[in-house]
Amino acid sequence: MIEPEEYRRRLRALLARPLFRKGSHAVNPGWIGIAERLADAVEALPRGGTVRCSQCGEKFGFWKAYLVFDFSDGDMRDALTGPMREAEVVSSRTCLVCGGPGEIVQVCDDLWHLALCPEHAGLPRDEISALLRPFVEALKQGAADDGKPA
Ligand SMILES: [Zn+2]
Repeated sequence: MIEPEEYRRRLRALLARPLFRKGSHAVNPGWIGIAERLADAVEALPRGGTVRCSQCGEKFGFWKAYLVFDFSDGDMRDALTGPMREAEVVSSRTCLVCGGPGEIVQVCDDLWHLALCPEHAGLPRDEISALLRPFVEALKQGAADDGKPA
């Protein structure tokens, strides 16, 4: 599991990249590497600069990124499908807390589905929330960050 300080540093770098510069973005600590790899893949495309992520976050256990681009460009759409799917599939097998190997599990008795490793899947819901709290705080500050250490 990465430290909140490292997460804050990587999140700040991520939100400065063309793909994530605008929009509403939520990336759990265990998934920050997935978001970084998606940005790498998009930037490696011939027209990577024309693509941006309008919104991303956890949905039904997956990390989902909504990419906006010139829809008249069919080649671009095809080129983006692979990296987008890859990010979703990998997130469903990656613990959103620690980044370790995991799977989507139902948390407690409710309908909350999260991708968790066996260790974190064994925790009560409020303990998972407590673990994520410093990262949620960092995320809230992310876009508005003035560069000073918190
Ligand atoms: Zn874990």
